[in-house]
Amino acid sequence: MAILEEPIKGVPTIKNYIDGEWVESKGEMMDVINPATCETIAKVGISMKDELDDAVKAAQEAYPDWRRTPAVTRARYLHRLRELLEENFEELSRIQTQEHGKTIDESRGETRRGIENVEVACGIPTLMMGDTSEDIASGIDEYLIRVPLGVFGIIGPFNFPFMIPLWSAPYAVATGNTIVIKPSEQCPISQSKLAELVEEAGFPPGVWNVVNGEKEVVNGMLDHPDIVGITFVGSTPTGRDVIYPRCGATGKRVIAQCGASNMMVVMPDANIKGTVAALMTSFFGNAGQRCLAGQNLIVVGEDDGFYNELMDAITATAKGIIMGNGLDESVQMGPVKDPQKKEKILSYIESGLKAGATLRLDGRKPTNILGGYPDTCFVGPTIIENVTPEMGVVTEEIFGPTMGVMRVKDLDEAIKICNENPYHNADAIFTSNGKDARQFQYEVNCGNIGINVGIVAPMAFYPFSGMSGSFYGILHTQGKEAVRFFTESKICIHRWL
Ligand code: NAD
Repeated sequence: MAILEEPIKGVPTIKNYIDGEWVESKGEMMDVINPATCETIAKVGISMKDELDDAVKAAQEAYPDWRRTPAVTRARYLHRLRELLEENFEELSRIQTQEHGKTIDESRGETRRGIENVEVACGIPTLMMGDTSEDIASGIDEYLIRVPLGVFGIIGPFNFPFMIPLWSAPYAVATGNTIVIKPSEQCPISQSKLAELVEEAGFPPGVWNVVNGEKEVVNGMLDHPDIVGITFVGSTPTGRDVIYPRCGATGKRVIAQCGASNMMVVMPDANIKGTVAALMTSFFGNAGQRCLAGQNLIVVGEDDGFYNELMDAITATAKGIIMGNGLDESVQMGPVKDPQKKEKILSYIESGLKAGATLRLDGRKPTNILGGYPDTCFVGPTIIENVTPEMGVVTEEIFGPTMGVMRVKDLDEAIKICNENPYHNADAIFTSNGKDARQFQYEVNCGNIGINVGIVAPMAFYPFSGMSGSFYGILHTQGKEAVRFFTESKICIHRWL
């Protein structure tokens, strides 16, 4: 067992970054905990409304000059940021593991996708181009230009603390807007490191601001008259009941990407080896704390031989997953973020068992944690058989390393269960039959469809999709849709006099 060197040392205080200055919050200090070791690794201020107001004021003051900065020049700042992100790749990744608990390889993947979004946004001079029509009437031309709107708020979740704000921020600033980021209060350190690199890249003060905190900062953003729009990624209750309605009430544009309980369907003709490997990452990667994670496994057909072979292979592989501190490169699964999340996962498992489901693999009291760390935040891979579509353990988001298993007679029944699920971000089918794959892709109503792929994570140049229940808004983060979200189309009609 060898633990990689930790970049966060000596319990630093994570400051706000406002108008190009690092400012300690006036609010109460909260501990940031490494869930693998249970140690406090930093303190972060829970900022108050007036601290947000300072950041919005700075962003608003920076906006006119930044908007006038040519798109090619704005892109050059992003090119410089991209270089710095590459130079700091390993440190950024280790910070994520320390603050979140995920394995170092998962963090490296997160860093990579974050950087890819910066790379895509570097293409802004082309991405932001408008349209022109000559002679819409004799001697009159019409053209459309895309213009920025002002100050945007970006609200992040705990589970991808570095990458998710980067689904929005590079596009927002590339298009000429200025921003205030509110990272998850549970994992604020990687956004602080990112802001250091933004500063080093030379972005003008006020263009990129970070205010740490909780609801008071979020509510302040939602009600702020000088914030024109919000991107939010987080749970469905927050997105559906707080973010989306309040942005509507105050006339802000909004993207709210929310939670999910996803279905993985295995057909009897699936390649077992490849399927099991994909399912392991899907259900147990990031300790199940992914909006794209598999939560429910639907095995199709009445062939007991196939079912037993599949479930034996899944169980044996899941049992062998090595848990521990993600900074140990031999660890395959880290803890969940905090004891409350663990408690919630255990209560879902309990509710499934009470409703008649049965345990095939019990991860509730893990004893095989490498390095002997406390089990406070660890939940082992858990496989629950005989779940039924209406159980809470199926329909609600558990956000932990659990796999609920059900058997159905045919693909139609599997698709019906997928579509009756109140919210699913990503469903997948495992099959060697192209016709079944096409039917699944065509009929399942969710934003991301996997075919022999267990984590359907869209590349940075595609939108991070979703549908109702897991998504509120029209456009999505990432790529061209983000560019559309952060700009307004202005129509100009020019008579040549
Ligand atoms: P969360 O909703 O608890 O918090 C998200 C953000 O909202 C945080 O910054 C938090 O401070 C703030 N917040 C929380 N409650 C609030 C309230 N009542 N009023 C105002 N602000 C509030 O989500 P989380 O637990 O940090 O993140 C995990 C969730 O995010 C999961 O549900 C996961 O599925 C979802 N997620 C969705 C996507 C996607 O693209 N659809 C991607 C990643 C994560």
